Amino acid sequence: MSGFITDKERTRPDLKAVSRRQDAHNPNSWNPKAVMEQNRALENHTAAEVIRWGFETFGTELVTATGFGPSGIVVMHLLSKIVAEPTVFYLETDLLFEETYTLRDTLVDRLGLKVMPVHSGVSLWRQAQQHGPDLWARNPDHCCFIRKMLPLRGFLADKSAWITALRRDQSSTRSDIEVVEWDSENGLVKINPLAGWTSEEIWQYIHLYDLPYNSLHDQGYPSLGCRPCTQPALDGAGARSGRWTGFAKTECGIHRRLQVIKKEIHDEGLSDFFERSGGS
Ligand code: SF4
Repeated sequence: MSGFITDKERTRPDLKAVSRRQDAHNPNSWNPKAVMEQNRALENHTAAEVIRWGFETFGTELVTATGFGPSGIVVMHLLSKIVAEPTVFYLETDLLFEETYTLRDTLVDRLGLKVMPVHSGVSLWRQAQQHGPDLWARNPDHCCFIRKMLPLRGFLADKSAWITALRRDQSSTRSDIEVVEWDSENGLVKINPLAGWTSEEIWQYIHLYDLPYNSLHDQGYPSLGCRPCTQPALDGAGARSGRWTGFAKTECGIHRRLQVIKKEIHDEGLSDFFERSGGS
């Protein structure tokens, strides 16, 4: 566990042994093998140490994603202690809750963040013209593909690494994430400093530092995304429940495997759209 509470005696391998051999500005110098070695060196380090390593290694080639969830708030708080001008980006789908925008603005003031929206360039009106109204209600994979996956892909295209707030305990699809892993879909290093944290630790941290969080969490929403695809969860349901109710979908796709997505797109007859949109 790399949480802030459990601070056991640790074996601490030299965390820069691998990164010293790589060139952060040369994407070809990082590969799945080097990342695996680096992950072994970092797995017993704290989240703050992992983030610091990320910035020392990749500098401005490293970007931080957020969806303004509880884990993201912890990452942003750590970032604000480590980096002079903390900057995060989020996927602006035009469909977020008002409460999420309020939280964004509060975090900007409280942590001195710079927040960058990443947009698809496709307005809701245009999407409805091209694919019919309420695409999310008929084909949420296609909607997430247009509004989240393609813009993310474009944004990460010239970056060397990105930080996420993913945790293993969030769902079965996230149970095997590593602290540092190779993002083969986007061709860069993916850093998950909170991989080993639990939901309880996240909330303890938020309360310890009296950090703001989305008021909808107190109204029964464990996980928040776009308005049409997010509901309050039933008592005792998992951390990702309440998302895409009625569909066998638990992830928007930005953390899923590209081969799976390509197959689904092919099965839906959308391959042409994918190729036109820059997919390969
Ligand atoms: S979460 Fe829903 S509304 Fe948002 S991009 Fe995905 S399908 Fe569309």
